[in-house]
Amino acid sequence: MEESRLERLCIDKGMKMTEQRRIIARVLSDANDHPDVEEVYRRAAALDSKISIATVYRTMRLFEEEGIVERHDFGDGRSRYEEVSDEHHDHLINVKTGRVIEFQNVEIERLQEWIAREHGLKLVGHRLELYGIPIKDSDAAG
Ligand SMILES: [Zn+2]
Repeated sequence: MEESRLERLCIDKGMKMTEQRRIIARVLSDANDHPDVEEVYRRAAALDSKISIATVYRTMRLFEEEGIVERHDFGDGRSRYEEVSDEHHDHLINVKTGRVIEFQNVEIERLQEWIAREHGLKLVGHRLELYGIPIKDSDAAG
């Protein structure tokens, strides 16, 4: 199995990579969405049926502590994960369908820095989630 981007990150951080960690890292590297632990488990188990959900939970916690995955709460009470990337993005959630849209907006980024500065702070990070419902029925898929 070829080394995934996340696996490389783990190795660079000096983490011990077991076969199961490698598989979970691969699942997260391959994901284009924001899976919760159950979904990561489903995908990992498809690659290795010996993986248990407890292992996935433990590994996700470890990856989060090491700062190689980011945990999100998109308002439905489930933790969702994605691998950290150099490209910053925010999330827009369609609460009707659960679809998560990733976006970047220069003006929002600037505005946030300005707000922090107004309060005497230099912005070092932020979290932004927007929640929406379709404007028209025909947009329900979006
Ligand atoms: Zn994202």
